[in-house]
Amino acid sequence: MAGTRKPVVEVRRSQRRRRTVSAYRDGERVVVLIPDQFSRAEESEWVDRMLARLAAREGRLARSDAELLARATRLINLYLSEHGAAAAPASVRWVTNQNGRWGSCTPADRTIRISHRIQDMPDWVIDYVLLHELAHLIVPSHNAAFWALVGRYPKSERARGYLEGVAATTGVPLTD
Ligand SMILES: [Zn+2]
Repeated sequence: MAGTRKPVVEVRRSQRRRRTVSAYRDGERVVVLIPDQFSRAEESEWVDRMLARLAAREGRLARSDAELLARATRLINLYLSEHGAAAAPASVRWVTNQNGRWGSCTPADRTIRISHRIQDMPDWVIDYVLLHELAHLIVPSHNAAFWALVGRYPKSERARGYLEGVAATTGVPLTD
């Protein structure tokens, strides 16, 4: 998964830079900008330092779309593994325009959207909502086969109770 793999680093030396070093992610690569006068040893020391800094910064944004996909992959392996590619979404992302639902799934194009409203909920609740939508890739309707898949997740009932409680207290009739 993205984040655990060591990124490809591109070092750019600048004659205008004197002491400042900066780094940013550009797709799969990390670009590190360093002063031209840096020695090779300084370059390697700063690359390590900037990668660590970047990882720490990204850790604070852990609930990103990339993290959601990593989470989905883990859930598929744990609970839906015999379905293989049939359970794999084409995309999973957080959305802010979905106020009446925790999550939604379009089996036709295999996309899953998860409401930002659950972003601050406990991990086990997010896992339930995500597994629910992944199960819809295999069984679109809420029939017995569907609930049997969702029921493989040990905290399904507890998570449904949690979400019902939130829906009741916020007065928003949230559905799945
Ligand atoms: Zn559903």
